[in-house]
Amino acid sequence: MKVEVVVLGIGGVGAFALRALAQQGVKPLGIEQFVPGHDLGSSHGGTRVYRHAYFEHPDYVPLLLHSSAAFGELQEVSDRPLMVRCGTLLLGRKDSKELSGARQAADEHRLLVRALNSGELRARYPQFDLPNDYIGLLEPGGGFVRPEAAIEAAVSDARRLGAELRTRTTVQSIREDKSGVHLTTNQGEIHCERLVVCAGAWSQKLIPQLQSMLQVTRQIQAWITPRNSEVIQPERLPTWFLARDNEPALYGIPADPLAKGTPAAKLAVHGRSEKADPETLARTVSPGERQEFQALTKRWMPRLAATVSELKVCMYTMTRDGNFLVDRAPGMERTWFAAGLSGHGFKLTPALGQVLSDLALDGASDLPAGFLGLRDM
Ligand SMILES: Cc1cc2nc3c(=O)[nH]c(=O)nc-3n(C[C@H](O)[C@H](O)[C@H](O)COP(=O)(O)OP(=O)(O)OC[C@H]3O[C@@H](n4cnc5c(N)ncnc54)[C@H](O)[C@@H]3O)c2cc1C
Repeated sequence: MKVEVVVLGIGGVGAFALRALAQQGVKPLGIEQFVPGHDLGSSHGGTRVYRHAYFEHPDYVPLLLHSSAAFGELQEVSDRPLMVRCGTLLLGRKDSKELSGARQAADEHRLLVRALNSGELRARYPQFDLPNDYIGLLEPGGGFVRPEAAIEAAVSDARRLGAELRTRTTVQSIREDKSGVHLTTNQGEIHCERLVVCAGAWSQKLIPQLQSMLQVTRQIQAWITPRNSEVIQPERLPTWFLARDNEPALYGIPADPLAKGTPAAKLAVHGRSEKADPETLARTVSPGERQEFQALTKRWMPRLAATVSELKVCMYTMTRDGNFLVDRAPGMERTWFAAGLSGHGFKLTPALGQVLSDLALDGASDLPAGFLGLRDM
């Protein structure tokens, strides 16, 4: 089989790359080892935070604004509810790198944020028990997006525009020569002019040159059910990020009003360091890990009197500096990739999909993603 462009991996980035290519009039082929919206990679769990006053690096802001607008546009086109704009609240010491970084990004890009002192925080968000010198930075334009629904909507729109999809098809190897790119899969050979690799935690297996740059880690997302579910509704609780001293940050997402069952809010540790491999990942959560999340709930949100009701395992693919990698694959001419989304990539998947489509078709993109190119790490 011979096609012009293949998108390998239809998770978060791949779904939007497939759609961006289809919007350009190419008839791309998407290849996915499972089915889009599955829960075995990095894009499951019902909700993902989006925000724009980005402490990670102000250069992400144009890509974030592009992405939020694109989620909004897809929501309209697909007539599916993909986003909830409930605001995002950063919590921590004034001089923490997260709060000062977010303020810098907001200043540079004129984003609306509002500082809250500790008294205002206590009055407005009694869900938290914070040290007295913690302050807040509220971005009303933040919120959460529904990842599985967004992936399904992007794939469905891409197919409407002419994209094809092969599910339950695993690419085993990639080889390039002058005639094109040759993929060996468990369903036979596929040849293409250009290849876009969006393989998440599997990236370094397909592009071994990335091995030394990427590290997969095992992450846990927990859901907590409080005594009074009113206080975890998006009208009362924004998405939040708590920068702690000398310990990994915590973050959370309010109950999704569209989720079935008893309302539950998400709570997670940002960046547990347990190394993992997607093929051997421990996908169940131990009683000790459940207790860890119960203790975190009790320490930081004691007035909720909440119990941990559900836990799910997921993966981050970390780069050393926490910034993504988006570039041509090392030593290859026709293969492009995005990898190392380092636990903060879903909110940027529309921009990354667009950049990959532009790179594969034109070798350059108008979106300012050059800072994510391959670098010495
Ligand atoms: C617990 C958790 C919470 C997070 N919270 C947030 C958040 O709040 N906000 C945010 O912005 N980001 C968040 N992230 C990060 C974000 O979800 C990820 O960065 C993003 O979803 C990764 O998308 P991806 O396309 O790179 O990977 P994936 O969505 O995993 O896609 C990779 C796809 O490639 C396929 N594939 C791989 N190898 C092959 C092969 N050989 N053949 C065929 N198919 C293949 C896989 O099956 C998979 O579908 C979180 C991540 C986790 C784990």
